[in-house]
Amino acid sequence: MSLSQIKVIAFDADDTLWVNETFFRKAEEEFCILLEAYMPKEEANTLLFDIEMKNLPLYGYGIKPFTLSLIEAAITISKGNLETELIQKLIEKGKQMLLEPVELIDGIDRTLNELSKKYRLVMATKGDLLDQERKLIKSGLEKYFHHIEIVSDKTEKQYRKLIRHLDITEQEFLMVGNSLKSDVIPVLNIGAHAFHIPFHTTWVHEMVDQEVCHPNFKSFTQASELLTIL
Ligand SMILES: [Mg+2]
Repeated sequence: MSLSQIKVIAFDADDTLWVNETFFRKAEEEFCILLEAYMPKEEANTLLFDIEMKNLPLYGYGIKPFTLSLIEAAITISKGNLETELIQKLIEKGKQMLLEPVELIDGIDRTLNELSKKYRLVMATKGDLLDQERKLIKSGLEKYFHHIEIVSDKTEKQYRKLIRHLDITEQEFLMVGNSLKSDVIPVLNIGAHAFHIPFHTTWVHEMVDQEVCHPNFKSFTQASELLTIL
């Protein structure tokens, strides 16, 4: 790998810049407790996930689609017998998630500050436009980024499009993120560089049964380690 070629570093947002998955896990747990009278918790959790996956192509990623899936799952689990009060609680849960404070990942501010002096930095994320913009502004990290890319999904096609838009070659592009499935594998497949910084919690949908071994790939335990080689 020739790191000296790199001109642009793109950072994933959720669980790379700030904590995200933890809020979803907590909401799922609360959902299962609320519905416990109708279905055992683990079963309810699986059913919720299946509904989320079914809705994904139509709704995309983010808290608002998640809220709709919570309501749909609750109706299914209770066989239509749930009280309005419970639906209200699920709607409130979603709103509460949208208002959570932004908690930065350790060392990310310093890392971005240093890297922004040497590279063009980009934020490249999936999810809901309004919510990702809200988090970016609240995070105080906006000043480090030249460009913000919020896409419906992170595919090889989307990465190629981003690289073309940035007016660079694949070899000049490095993606940093917590998901092997979204931030690493499609990036390596198009000949660009990808660094993985895992977060302690990974959504089942983002899990891959694959060991990544590639000359353009490295794995780190925390963001500040990037400064030792970049
Ligand atoms: Mg992420």
